Amino acid sequence: MTLTSANVGPVRDASVSRYTAGRLSPIRRVADLRRLRDEQFDVLVIGGGVTGTGAALDAASRGLKVALVEARDLAAGTSSRSSKLIHGGLRYLEQLELHLVHEALTERGLLTSRLAPHLVRPVPILVPLPAASPPGRVWQRGYYGLGVAAYDVFAGLFGTGRGMPLHRHLSRAGARRMFPSLRADKIVGAIRYFDGQVDDARLVVNLARTAASLGAAVVTSARVTGFLREAREVVGVKVRDLEAPDSPEFEVRARTVVAATGVWSDDLSQMLSDVGVRPGLRVRASKGVHLVVPRSAITGEAGLILRTPTSVLFVIPWGGHWIIGTTDTDWHLDRSHPAASARDISYLLDQVNTVLERPLTIDDIEGVYAGLRPLLSGEADSTSKLSREHAVVEPMLGLLLVAGGKYTTYRVMAADVIDRAVRRLGGPARPSRTDQLPLLGADGYAAAWRDRLDIARRHGVTAGVMEHLLERYGTLTVHLLAMIEADPALATPLAGAPEYLTAEVAYAALAEGALHLDDVLTRRTRISIETAHRGSETAAHAARVMGEALGWDKAVQEREIEHYLARVEAERQSQKMPDDLTADAARIGVPDVRGLSADRGAEDLLEIDL
Ligand SMILES: Cc1cc2nc3c(=O)[nH]c(=O)nc-3n(C[C@H](O)[C@H](O)[C@H](O)COP(=O)(O)OP(=O)(O)OC[C@H]3O[C@@H](n4cnc5c(N)ncnc54)[C@H](O)[C@@H]3O)c2cc1C
Repeated sequence: MTLTSANVGPVRDASVSRYTAGRLSPIRRVADLRRLRDEQFDVLVIGGGVTGTGAALDAASRGLKVALVEARDLAAGTSSRSSKLIHGGLRYLEQLELHLVHEALTERGLLTSRLAPHLVRPVPILVPLPAASPPGRVWQRGYYGLGVAAYDVFAGLFGTGRGMPLHRHLSRAGARRMFPSLRADKIVGAIRYFDGQVDDARLVVNLARTAASLGAAVVTSARVTGFLREAREVVGVKVRDLEAPDSPEFEVRARTVVAATGVWSDDLSQMLSDVGVRPGLRVRASKGVHLVVPRSAITGEAGLILRTPTSVLFVIPWGGHWIIGTTDTDWHLDRSHPAASARDISYLLDQVNTVLERPLTIDDIEGVYAGLRPLLSGEADSTSKLSREHAVVEPMLGLLLVAGGKYTTYRVMAADVIDRAVRRLGGPARPSRTDQLPLLGADGYAAAWRDRLDIARRHGVTAGVMEHLLERYGTLTVHLLAMIEADPALATPLAGAPEYLTAEVAYAALAEGALHLDDVLTRRTRISIETAHRGSETAAHAARVMGEALGWDKAVQEREIEHYLARVEAERQSQKMPDDLTADAARIGVPDVRGLSADRGAEDLLEIDL
């Protein structure tokens, strides 16, 4: 049975529609803040990345009373900075970690077919077969062909609906037809396979909203500063509201606390160091940098996966752009704003240029972003060999830590940690049901996509606009169309980023929990990485629209713009610096818009100071 708003049994007010209940509006934030102060929750989740929002949704859909607090914005950590692939991981297949491949392909099938078909789509990817002598050629085609075939078989046998076309072998000419920019002398052919692609930040917002629609209190800009303890048990957390820096910290009480804090996990464990608690897991950060270039810089109809000396490199089509990444190096500096250095950028350009007919240069680059992989530490020396598997530990009664894994398997991590929470809470058995629960916007998506031209005509928008909206909001698109109908000015394109509509900025502020200009330009839309001006030409327009939605006066609008422009400039400067230390120094000059200063683990700071 697929769950719908009619048959799911959450803690929300039944007189309110699921969409209304899932609106992360400014009023909702005030109400949820009040709930944090006044109520005791079954489960309180710390961290609004994919793991934390997934855990909040899992718990809420089991009928538990749930709250989620996020220090910055939804997906502001690693979950907006990935390669944006929902994948089994061909690399894990090669390492014979078959259970990981199986698990991830099952999740891929669920996401594309049932849970989020509006946000996760198939993307074709070529495995180029490098030029080699004839025996080597046969061996390579056999080796890679077997791997990709096994991938398809895994998806077909175990996946919940494959959701992807099958792989295909291509000759050199066939590969060049599909990817004219591939250097003919470098390949003897290719194999084309499919994986899933997602706007990572948008899926997280959607998870949070779906959790909210089932009664979860979701509050961003709410930083946990310590745990509440009674005897040897965690019974809640202390929270600081970063939107009201002068107001005192307050306490939130919960029967179970789940920390899903990615590369900040060790900080949470450290909050208990005074009572001699051993964390049970440790997380280290590995930096991955991506470049964004315009689609016109490379001619191809599919992505590429290339082997590099240490790992693999993806070249993935992303709307009117390509995403190229990634690097894989240890990172001990500011975790809130990991900086890409000139060395990272030239490494990526060098790697991709080995196979491109027209080499890319720095001038081709529109955007650059860096993210930190939360790796369970201790298994191996080199970061790319560390396991992506996750762990759930209970360092102290009442506190569960969940970390590791990858974006694709967020639902499995969420179910594992909430299973543990449910066992602790006692009461009736409540199995996870998120494999049956479409996210907001997924219900009726196939029909809406089929009828998109009719809907576009009825609402007086172009087919292109309609497709853009459907692929970002699913069937929630009707709400944006209604906003446009009420105020046709919202149909105008955004300054400097005409593929986005003004309505999307207003909607982000009114329904998607965006509190700052940076939230809108970086995560609700991806303008900060998709334009050569990195959003600076959009900032004033977007601030005006957000200002109207959120009641900002001129001074607030100007402060938001000023901060955003300073951030962009600091990032540009950091990307000219030769290495991590100098890039980080250039970036940390501009603190987080929520007033957080540079953010390093205590041990790492010691390392640097010494
Ligand atoms: C370069 C790169 C490429 C990747 N590509 C892929 C890919 O293509 N496919 C894939 O499946 N996976 C990919 N991954 C892995 C995937 O992105 C991560 O595993 C996943 O996003 C981690 O999510 P998370 O929720 O655990 O952590 P995060 O997204 O970092 O969330 C943790 C959150 O906790 C919050 N927090 C921390 N401390 C506190 C506090 N005290 N109070 C309140 N909140 C707090 C943070 O602000 C943060 O938002 C990639 C990772 C990287 C770095």
